[in-house]
Parts: sequence; structure tokens; C-alpha cells
Amino acid sequence: MLQVSDVTVLYPAGPGEWNTAVDGVSLEIATGEIVALLGPSGCGKSSLLRAVAGLEPLSSGDVLWDGESVAREPVHKRGFGLMFQDGQLFVHQDVAGNVGYGLFRQPRAERERRVAEMLTLVGLAGYGERRVDTLSGGERQRVALARSLAPAPRMMMLDEPLSSLDRALREHLVVEMRQILRDADATALYVTHDQGEARAIADRIGVMMAGKLVQIGTPDELWANPATTEVEAFLAPAPSD
Ligand code: ADP
Ligand code: MG
Repeated sequence: MLQVSDVTVLYPAGPGEWNTAVDGVSLEIATGEIVALLGPSGCGKSSLLRAVAGLEPLSSGDVLWDGESVAREPVHKRGFGLMFQDGQLFVHQDVAGNVGYGLFRQPRAERERRVAEMLTLVGLAGYGERRVDTLSGGERQRVALARSLAPAPRMMMLDEPLSSLDRALREHLVVEMRQILRDADATALYVTHDQGEARAIADRIGVMMAGKLVQIGTPDELWANPATTEVEAFLAPAPSD
């Protein structure tokens, strides 16, 4: 289980001045649970995810896994898989090379077995020898997901992983993504500014505004009982997008 305990992230904003990106956020994610962080651009979602992952220092607070602080552990020792909007694939390697990237310590046969298993999981069986630059945007993000999941991270952290894709593909992929994360028994923190995406992927959604976690609950709870008028306004479906 992940526990985020009273985490604050400050950025320097000039001599003696600080910008509070994340303001005393606490939340828990149970093993096997998918939690989305939802909120408008600039509300601190990425800063919180990066702080939990170890990519950003905590100004105060703690991050615990199964009751033990990981706040002093470097990123690669936390055992968290990361995925971003731009999948950051290695264009000079084929799909299998990308998916097997985190498995370099394993014997070749085991690595190949795991790569094939991951490609099947994300619906790209047989794509191992394809060059990355021949893939569509959606296929690339599936490869990025397979690469993050391959080393069996104890937790997945995804920051707007579908935001670079068009809406139709996004709506389709988010449903697949939930199933893939479920099939992998993944515990996940999924950052998005898109309420439809949050609703489709998450067991619970945490709504962030101006650095604070203002409400967390199941999608049904949130839409039935928004805690503030800001949350209510934000959750109201946009007229078009
Ligand atoms: P979100 O992911 O919800 O869009 P961010 O966490 O990226 O929000 O940003 C939260 C706030 O922190 C914003 O005001 C942003 O400008 C600021 N911020 C983000 N990253 C940095 C940084 N590396 N240095 C200084 N300020 C930053
Ligand atoms: Mg962000």
C-alpha cells in the first residue's frame, strides 16, 4: 500500500520566495487499486506524482510503501514504473528492445519470454521486431506501457499517458488501459486533467485544485456529492472538446 502523508512541494520563485505546487496532500492507494488524480492544468498533479516517484524533492511530508518511508530512496530503488505523455521510446531500438529495456539483468531467454508476454498483454503480439518509427501514436503508448510494466513494478505512475492522442483513440485506449492494469494486478496512480478519462480508469478519483487535494472518492460519490462548488463546476461535462 502507498501512503502519501502531508506532502508539500515548493519551487523557488525568486530570492526568498517559493511557489507552492503541492500543499499538504495526504492519500492512500491500496494494493491493486487504481487512483486517478484529476484537476485543471497547473494544480500540482505532476508535481505530486513526481514527488512520489522521487523525481522531485519533498519540501515536507513523507511517502511510504507498506508502512516504510521511501522518501530517501532514489527513483530506481522505489520499484515504481513510470509512464509519461510522450512515451519516450528509444527510436533506435525495435519494439522488443524497448520493452526489454528494464530487464537487462535477466537471462536472454527469460527476457524474451517476458517481452512476448508484455506485448500480448498490450495487444501487440508479434510486434517485437517492428521499428518504433513505424508505429502509430496509440501503438507507441502501448509499447511504453509494456516497457513500464515489464519489470513488474510494485506500483505504476502514469502522467497524462494518453494526452498526445486524439479523443476517439483516447476514449478507446483508456478502457483497454484499465483492463491491462487490472490484468497486471497493478497498483496505479494515474494523472489526468480529463474527467472522462479519470472516470473510465479509476477506482477512486482525487480532485486537486491549487495544490490541494480537495476531495477523493469513487466516481459515483464525486459526481453525486461534489465537496465544493469548484469541484462541481470542474466535474460538469465540458460542452465540447
Ligand atoms: P499539473 O500537472 O497539474 O498541470 P504541475 O505540477 O505541473 O501541475 O504544476 C504545478 C505548479 O508548479 C504550476 O504553477 C507550475 O507552473 C509550477 N511548476 C511545475 N514545475 C515546476 C518547476 N520545475 N519549477 C518551477 N515551477 C514549477
Ligand atoms: Mg501535469
